[in-house]
Amino acid sequence: MTRASHFYAQEIETLSREDLRKLQDQRVRSLINELSSNAFYQEKARAAGLDLSRIECAEDLRSLPFTTKQELVDDQLEHPPFGRVLTYPISRYRYFHQTSGTTGRPLKWLDTEESWRWWLRSWGYVYRAAGVTSDDVVFCAFSFGPYLSHWAAISGAWHIGALCVSGGGMNSEQRIQSIVDNRATVIVCTPTYALHLAEAARELGIDLRSSAVRVGIHAGEPGASLPNVKRAIEDAWGATCFDHAGATEAGAWAFDCEAQTGAIHLNDAEFIFEVIDPESGESIGEGQRGELVITNLGRGCMPVLRYRTGDLVELTTEPCPCGRTFARIKGGVVGRADDMIIVRGVNLYPSAIDNLIRGVPLVSEYEVEISRVSGLDELLIRIETPNSESFTEASHQLTHSFRTAHSIRVNVEHSPSGSLPRYEFKSRRFKRIG
Ligand SMILES: [Zn+2]
Repeated sequence: MTRASHFYAQEIETLSREDLRKLQDQRVRSLINELSSNAFYQEKARAAGLDLSRIECAEDLRSLPFTTKQELVDDQLEHPPFGRVLTYPISRYRYFHQTSGTTGRPLKWLDTEESWRWWLRSWGYVYRAAGVTSDDVVFCAFSFGPYLSHWAAISGAWHIGALCVSGGGMNSEQRIQSIVDNRATVIVCTPTYALHLAEAARELGIDLRSSAVRVGIHAGEPGASLPNVKRAIEDAWGATCFDHAGATEAGAWAFDCEAQTGAIHLNDAEFIFEVIDPESGESIGEGQRGELVITNLGRGCMPVLRYRTGDLVELTTEPCPCGRTFARIKGGVVGRADDMIIVRGVNLYPSAIDNLIRGVPLVSEYEVEISRVSGLDELLIRIETPNSESFTEASHQLTHSFRTAHSIRVNVEHSPSGSLPRYEFKSRRFKRIG
């Protein structure tokens, strides 16, 4: 049974796809009106022989060229510090954030009071669909710093009326203590860090399954939609795990619902989504994997129009049992276009490898080394297991699952317990050598 409390904006979330499109058209018109003084997008349209003011609906957007991250980075380098993508004079802006820079130079991004409220709304959908209410105590296990996810998750929790405990500036032990002492019912962190906290708690003799945490919301990397990673987190925490996807420059654009179908919702009320063939840029239909392209509708102060996220997704508009009409992506973000590894002719994404390794509970941490031998990628997987007997068993299970799932042979090596790096935010377990 769907409870009304799981909706953030029930009327909008259950609009027919046709009415949803009308709502998007309206919002595209007001966005384009707002961009009359946005030098970056005005010039971009002109360079493509277009007049931005002629864009009147979501469909029209498709005539515009894509925006890439590199363009935004270059814009900030050429017009420091914030680039020409700012629509307003600096006096209008209140909030400064920047990307973590894991895939290159950090991007700085600013918000006004109004666009920050849009962030809160977007997080409202995330929290409510996970059943989070004002009765909850939300613990945000991110580091303080200029990273948007921490501030948006906290402000979003306040927005829906929850009590929010910040886990910024703490080590793992302090965080675990705070979660237990303050009877947190919701934890927000990356999937990697959820598993790390669980491991750290075990070492302290604390069983997180007996804590008050009943919901985990996980973002920052694929994981919470990978069946084995999800199961590992849920087993360790005794909580239901919800996937969520977002990006500093684009917004909090996807959320998991209570129906837990393994496909997560795209927020069609606050964004326009397209899926394209990453090679040709052509639009592709449902049921095919492609790159997600995003236009955000509530951030005219510093927007992205047809932004190539690099995230690979498979779209579906099949009805969801939760009653929402927002489209969904099957299995969440399945990988990044530039992260593909080709092992003996088989295309693999780090997320698929992560899922297989997390299917072996004996493995507490791992690292994957990718090397190029005669033009082909070879995989070496280093795993931590409690002892050498369990290594033999885990190694056997791993080689078997790679053979069954992808018909490939992998090399497995033992690492002493506690020797591999642990990560608080995005993991960097995949290393390319040579
Ligand atoms: Zn749903």
